[in-house]
Amino acid sequence: MSNQKHVLLCGNWKMNFGPKETQAFLEKLEWNKKSNAQMRIYVPYVSLTTAQNTLEKRGLLGRDTVSIGAQNVHYEKSGAFTGEISALMLTEVGIRHTLVGHSERRQYFNETNETVLKRTVHSLEQGLEVLLCIGETLNERNSNQTESVLTTQLAAILDHATCQAHFGDALHLAYEPVWAIGTGVVATPSQAEQAHSFIREMLHTKLGSEKALKTRILYGGSVSPQNFKDLLACPNIDGGLVGGASLKLDSWHALWNLI
Ligand code: PEP
Repeated sequence: MSNQKHVLLCGNWKMNFGPKETQAFLEKLEWNKKSNAQMRIYVPYVSLTTAQNTLEKRGLLGRDTVSIGAQNVHYEKSGAFTGEISALMLTEVGIRHTLVGHSERRQYFNETNETVLKRTVHSLEQGLEVLLCIGETLNERNSNQTESVLTTQLAAILDHATCQAHFGDALHLAYEPVWAIGTGVVATPSQAEQAHSFIREMLHTKLGSEKALKTRILYGGSVSPQNFKDLLACPNIDGGLVGGASLKLDSWHALWNLI
């Protein structure tokens, strides 16, 4: 692609690939460096160290190559939160990236805008880079509530001083319409661009143009090598958060090579 956007291609492996499959995948990852793009892969907790070690052995771990992240993080440093992992624990094993607020967390694990805010703020305070996920359900879209849902999901985030300070460097957004995640039904480029430009405008109004432009707004929801190029051609789409197509080497390579 010839435009000068800085693109993020992010894979969300969800609850797939334990350490063995992680190692096998990353040993076969074909790497070609791009000056205008970065690759991140969000892997299950138990695979974080294997992922980092496998990439490190190949000289492929880092900002200019591949970054590994977690899929969620708790908002306290430590304590009686059985089953949770803190930002401090992630940084202790060398992790610098996390997703927050994925719709599957909101849908199946009762994440709310309030807990998403707490996780985001805590992660930023501990030095993690956060990719914060927002997006409307099909019912909300069909009843013309897309913009009000996005406004509500972002309101407290945009009002929080820590988030305000980090937008554009350690805080980025993924617009993921819930109806498009894992369904094979991708938003059309014009539907996606409409939502992305609305989000960009919110950032602009609250934080000014520099932060609004520096914040990467990724599209997620059934991204594939067949639709990624058209999505990426939209002015306000800065990359993709990819589930299914990040689990197969051929589609993952194809997506990277479309940038
Ligand atoms: C996701 O997990 O964030 C996602 C967008 O999944 P998929 O690409 O499979 O729709």
